[in-house]
Amino acid sequence: MNLKAGGMLSAYPGMPVHDLEHNSKKEQLIKKYSRIPTYKATRGLKGFINMGSTCFMSSILQAIVHNPFIRDYYLSGSHLDCPRDPKDCISCCVGEIFKDFYSSTSTSGYGPSSMLSAAWKVRKSLAGYSEQDAHEFWQFLIHQLHKNDTKRLHDRESTPALDSDGDKKDLASNPLFKCDCITHRTFAGELQSTLTCADCGNKHVTIDPMLDLSLEIRERNESLKTLDECLQKFTKPEKLDILFSCPRCAKKTGVTKQLQIRKLPPTLCIQLKRFEHVNVSTKLEAHVDIPLILDMSKYTLDGRRNGDSGSDLYELYAVVYHIGNVNTGHYISLVKDRDGMWFKFDDSHVVRVSEKDVLASQAYLLFYIIHEMP
Ligand SMILES: [Zn+2]
Ligand SMILES: [Zn+2]
Ligand SMILES: [Zn+2]
Repeated sequence: MNLKAGGMLSAYPGMPVHDLEHNSKKEQLIKKYSRIPTYKATRGLKGFINMGSTCFMSSILQAIVHNPFIRDYYLSGSHLDCPRDPKDCISCCVGEIFKDFYSSTSTSGYGPSSMLSAAWKVRKSLAGYSEQDAHEFWQFLIHQLHKNDTKRLHDRESTPALDSDGDKKDLASNPLFKCDCITHRTFAGELQSTLTCADCGNKHVTIDPMLDLSLEIRERNESLKTLDECLQKFTKPEKLDILFSCPRCAKKTGVTKQLQIRKLPPTLCIQLKRFEHVNVSTKLEAHVDIPLILDMSKYTLDGRRNGDSGSDLYELYAVVYHIGNVNTGHYISLVKDRDGMWFKFDDSHVVRVSEKDVLASQAYLLFYIIHEMP
């Protein structure tokens, strides 16, 4: 056993220990110091203590902790070689949470104080006790996981130079640069935007990276009733109000714009835009039907619908919903565990719920995972 593997085992005290040598003295020691994790620990079923309006953070962390790609990344020790001070590294803080969730024998809630203070250091606006937006925290968190991925930190010398602060103009936002970090491996897809000249039909195509989809849940003041209707609205050609200078017919003409998904991600995060911040902040309460299995083939560029690939089918595994009004609300998450059972995580309370409860929730963020890896 090399030193590194030893370090890994000691960092995950709940993991089973297998020693290659049959040495009775060692065996006794192993038996004395190893523990069988509890059922809850093997499933990571644990809540977060509310540290003063921190539910925006806890609800997102539950969706992260129960994502199989991110779980494998952390439980295989992929971030243990981080050279940074764990107090300043949000990825290390997430690692701490995994260690606690998957090995601790205590079932009481986890106090995310190290995560909170590390997040405050990186983004001052997260401090204080005002209610924050869970989607904004989600974007912040996955950006941090990208930035702190040790593969990136070690490769930095060999990759083309970044901006002086290494961050502002991130290369990973360029779709031609394939980032291999945990965030991009888990959440990155590609969105294609096509502008079509109304006069000559010339198409101007741009491709952008996509880490989630933000969908309107209203059309001309009418509420959309299903997630499919929201996705249809998002991907259908839309006449723009502006005039477009067409490079081909050299006229100023009308133009239609269409968004389509060029590449689907392994995990698809969808935001239903319930919060509107025009002059005053309002919340749209309408119920949107969400499917447990989502077929994305209709919204992709090549509209693969021949059925046998199965790679456009997604399975819902987490929902974040919001109760209360826009300023004093509360976030709760619903998460499916490895055995297909749903649990509700309301701060430190964890209870079993049914699929019906999940479908009835006023979903704000949806997390779908690819049904079959291509
Ligand atoms: Zn770290
Ligand atoms: Zn990345
Ligand atoms: Zn034209």
